[in-house]
Amino acid sequence: MTTISANLQAVLARIFAAARKYGRNPDDISLLAVSKTWPASVVREAAVAGQQAFGENYVQEGAAKIAELGSLGLVWHFIGPLQSNKAKQVATAFDWVHSVDRLKIAERLSEQRPDSLAPLQVCLQVNVSGEKSKSGTLMDDLSSLAHRVALLPRLKLRGLMAIPAPVEDFAQQRKSFRRLREAFERLKESGLLLDTLSMGMSHDLEAAVAEGASIVRVGTAIFGARSKS
Ligand SMILES: *Cc1c(COP(=O)(O)O)cnc(C)c1O
Repeated sequence: MTTISANLQAVLARIFAAARKYGRNPDDISLLAVSKTWPASVVREAAVAGQQAFGENYVQEGAAKIAELGSLGLVWHFIGPLQSNKAKQVATAFDWVHSVDRLKIAERLSEQRPDSLAPLQVCLQVNVSGEKSKSGTLMDDLSSLAHRVALLPRLKLRGLMAIPAPVEDFAQQRKSFRRLREAFERLKESGLLLDTLSMGMSHDLEAAVAEGASIVRVGTAIFGARSKS
């Protein structure tokens, strides 16, 4: 087994163990391999090992890999900060976007999504830590944003995503993820059909699984440490 293949198995085993421990069905949790900064050859190796979904943070870099690996039938998720002037490239190249945090970006993505493709699958990024510098919509603005995004014709609103401030303590990790899950449940109670909670990374995926993650986004534990982030 290559290192990537072994790492993938180890991460899947962590997800499985956490699901068991916290009473979740492992089939309800999918692994997004975050391949930012790694070349297409590395993504190909993970794909050969059976990984299908990949996350990218940088538009140019991601679009180049998507073009190069187009024949592999992979699913591509954009998870990085979004600028309006890149909306067209994202809407054309990617299947999912996790980092929608304002209406203007959502409208651009909807306008730019080609009719020949399925609707762009979208999560709203929420600032669960409340830090001023963090991207993501504030909790107070989430409900109105979600109900507006749900009406855009070329997007399909699937759920919520968060990147909590990194902490060591498991109970603290769970607390941030619980805030996201509770917001998700309130949105569903208000009538939105949502099925995706994108939360948890290499260091905190167990806490995210415990709180209901349906997609965990893992880079380092699969590919190793990045030289840039
Ligand atoms: C880089 C990144 C990840 C993966 O983080 P690791 O700590 O390497 O697992 C997940 N989500 C987002 C939004 C990222 O930018």
